Amino acid sequence: MRQKIIIAIDGYSSCGKSTLAKQLAKELLYVHIDSGAMYRAITLYFLRNAVKFDKEKDINDALKNIHLSFLFNNVSGKSDIYLNDENVEAQIRDMVVSEKVSEVAAIEQVRHFAVEQQRKIGDKKGIVMDGRDIGTTVFPDAELKIFMTADIAVRVERRYKEFYASNKNITIEEVKNNLEMRDYIDSNRAISPLRKADDAFVLDNTNLSMAQQLKIALDKVHEKLSNTNKHSKVD
Ligand code: C5P
Repeated sequence: MRQKIIIAIDGYSSCGKSTLAKQLAKELLYVHIDSGAMYRAITLYFLRNAVKFDKEKDINDALKNIHLSFLFNNVSGKSDIYLNDENVEAQIRDMVVSEKVSEVAAIEQVRHFAVEQQRKIGDKKGIVMDGRDIGTTVFPDAELKIFMTADIAVRVERRYKEFYASNKNITIEEVKNNLEMRDYIDSNRAISPLRKADDAFVLDNTNLSMAQQLKIALDKVHEKLSNTNKHSKVD
């Protein structure tokens, strides 16, 4: 049987990590997990329940009441996230959540809660997970690590188009500020800051089409798979 690997995709906000992860999972028949959706769903719960971000006990109590799960959606071709059995895929993309998510994701207990579940999901391999600390913290032994990047102007435009579809009042300025603020908090937090893993392959998709980025990533996957197979034959 063909060997399955773990593919970790990290990078700045709105670089198209989830798009590439989804493309790869479809091609390879792997499971795609958008780890950012988990932090967003936790943030949504905190906002709905007015959990104070600086109160350790409130945070611990809240986390005990949070159950996250993913269910594949045949229409969108990706997994939707469920917060206590409610599909919150649309709500977590709202600007209200985007404005607070990096603050929540910097909280130690929140990261432990999310990382533990991410590792469990990865147990069986055959997974593509995207986020900020997947190659550095969640799966430091992942067979393939991709660090994605793109020019800020391109990232802002992509995210603006996404937001504009559901909110015509959004401005480019707001989107740009949000991306920059999240990148700053994510890169400077004390626990598992956004970093390129030493053994990650950098993929700058500023001038790449979706088909081109998929081709580059798939070539890397096949390279890793043939190395993995060679080593397992020798062992
Ligand atoms: O990937 P996405 O932009 O939806 O992630 C939202 C936020 O969740 C990020 O800005 C970051 O603060 C947090 N996050 C994280 N670690 C991950 C994935 C996301 O801290 N592995």
